[in-house]
Amino acid sequence: MLDKLNPPQREAVDTLAGPLLVLAGAGTGKTRVVTFRIANLIKHGTRPERILAVTFTRKAAGEMQDRSLALLATKGRKKSQVPRPEISTFHALCVKILRRHIKRLGYPERFSICDRGEQEGFARAALREIRVPDATLKASDMLSIVSRWKMQSIEPGVAESHAESDREHLAAVAYRRYQHALKSAGLVDFDDLLLLTEKLFAKFPSVRRDEAARFDHVMIDEYQDTNHSQYEIVRGLALAHRNLCVVGDDDQSIYGWRGAEVSHILRFKNDWPDARVVRLENNYRSTSAIIAFANTLIRFNKERHDKQLIAAKHDGPTPRILQFKDESEEASKIVKDIQRQLGMGRGANEFAILFRTNEQPRAFETELRTAGVPYVLVGGMSFFDRREVRDVLSLLRLAGDPNYEPALLRVLNTPPRGIGDAARKAMVAEATARGETLWQVMSHAGSLGLTDASLKGVLQFRKQIETWGELGKRMPLADLMRHIVDDVNYPRELERLFDDPADREARMAAVEEVVNAAASYEAQRRPERESTSRITDFLDDLLVSGRDESRDKEKDLSRNAVALMTLHSAKGLEFPRVYLVGMEEGILPHKRSLDAGESAIAEERRLCYVGVTRAQEELSLSLALTRRKWGKPRDSHPSRFLYEMTGKADNPNAAGRPPQRGPQGRRK
Ligand code: ATP
Ligand code: MG
Repeated sequence: MLDKLNPPQREAVDTLAGPLLVLAGAGTGKTRVVTFRIANLIKHGTRPERILAVTFTRKAAGEMQDRSLALLATKGRKKSQVPRPEISTFHALCVKILRRHIKRLGYPERFSICDRGEQEGFARAALREIRVPDATLKASDMLSIVSRWKMQSIEPGVAESHAESDREHLAAVAYRRYQHALKSAGLVDFDDLLLLTEKLFAKFPSVRRDEAARFDHVMIDEYQDTNHSQYEIVRGLALAHRNLCVVGDDDQSIYGWRGAEVSHILRFKNDWPDARVVRLENNYRSTSAIIAFANTLIRFNKERHDKQLIAAKHDGPTPRILQFKDESEEASKIVKDIQRQLGMGRGANEFAILFRTNEQPRAFETELRTAGVPYVLVGGMSFFDRREVRDVLSLLRLAGDPNYEPALLRVLNTPPRGIGDAARKAMVAEATARGETLWQVMSHAGSLGLTDASLKGVLQFRKQIETWGELGKRMPLADLMRHIVDDVNYPRELERLFDDPADREARMAAVEEVVNAAASYEAQRRPERESTSRITDFLDDLLVSGRDESRDKEKDLSRNAVALMTLHSAKGLEFPRVYLVGMEEGILPHKRSLDAGESAIAEERRLCYVGVTRAQEELSLSLALTRRKWGKPRDSHPSRFLYEMTGKADNPNAAGRPPQRGPQGRRK
């Protein structure tokens, strides 16, 4: 095994105890080190389930899982019975910790994770309570402010002192109410998972010790992107045994806007003075022509640890700079370029189109579709923000927990079953008056004076849910879901809502995807888990993995298709041929960063660096000379990063002056 590593990688993999930091540039084999080290620990006698590895994607997790399993399978045990290392994303890890201890914070053990739609409902209610009109502060804007605070571990009680504008002051007041309402409903939002775990560890040292005692080794990939809560959680888990290995690259820290602090990785040696530090310099991913671009670019960031990438591969072609008339030409010519290469026998999955903003892929999607080139848009609209997915998941949730009100309210009359608005209001009022749940009210709905149609709908739905609950005790989850979808005739609901057959088909496919997820969840469950709350466990798992986009990502990338994705979701991945598109001022660097000072530009530069270093063989950087904004074509200016990479001028935009002349490049 150690043959497949270079000497410093081997040193890291062979360091089996104590704090260890691998700080190294892109493509130098950091993730590989984590993977091999897990296998090596197991080989040296560590029980797999005593190892915790936190990784950014499930792709990496799957790889680690496979390697350690391959090692253990030789001992003659069945693969399904082999104990596995705990390989997880931060959020999934926190769900498990909270399930065990959240009671201490005054939340119910069976708390639920609310989805985006529910969050907006609570945010709107909070703003209404303090009489803030939509025009002053929208629910979605309030949520982004609150989310930013939560990611910096700022709790409702102190948010006001962090508010920097009138809007933020209002958001701070609403934050308190929002949080209170969530808690009363037994709900946590996605950011709470981290924040509450941090709080739990801080307030209850015994909880922290219990959780830490589950593992002998803790390993973290992409450590440069940990925020305050994640940093504290990691520290808490490793404090006792001190076997903490973190790997990362300060030049790839791209989540500053979400509260990540690159200082965590840079001060590792201060936190753990006896830490062994390993640096890797050989890049095994990209040709030296690509590495030269990356090195030149990142040197423009002033505050960084100077490190050099040395390409282990051959020279390769110089990255191309493609200049186009407008964004339509950019998309059509690039798709033609890909088509031409597909004609030469290359596989579609060798190509990735990477972009900065969510608006950019649309033109490419249209062209790819017209050209009949298979593609996947990775991490586009969250799977879980799709109406059909939320409907079906709410129905399933009720089978496991009919008292879960947000789900019941969502599907009370979806698909329509005659329960009108008046009936809904009467039931909610009754529940409030009697201190009952909506589900309890449904059992004596006869006394509420509902219309015949409404009452019939209520009683019938109640019976259905009861039956699902019974079936849920013995049926595999996937079968149960299929049963529910049929039982409510969800396909007919889609027919009612969507005229376009293609639309209906896509939505039905999403529903099918949820069923598939249930099947694969049950196939992969760790055998030692008891099955009392499997529906809720499945939903937790799905929500968490869906929100970090990694489950979809892994699946999408295994298809033979051109990958379209944002630079943020490309982190850690690699592709033979990469198109980094929209290399223009205002896109990359993003317009929000232009007036936000040097550190904001530096983060954009790191993002560009991440993009460049995804390419293994060929890199194309493209820009459009005009781009439509609100339907009107506007001139755009080449990104300063192009000048920096090509060394054509010494940072022409440093003084805020837009470049007048495009960079030299082949014009297509
Ligand atoms: P990133 O910073 O993008 O996350 P990384 O440092 O995690 O990159 P890996 O993804 O682990 O790098 O490795 C990059 C590529 O180099 C992979 O294809 C990996 O298999 C290969 N690689 C790593 N180390 C070696 C080695 N010693 N010999 C051959 N190939 C290697
Ligand atoms: Mg990596």
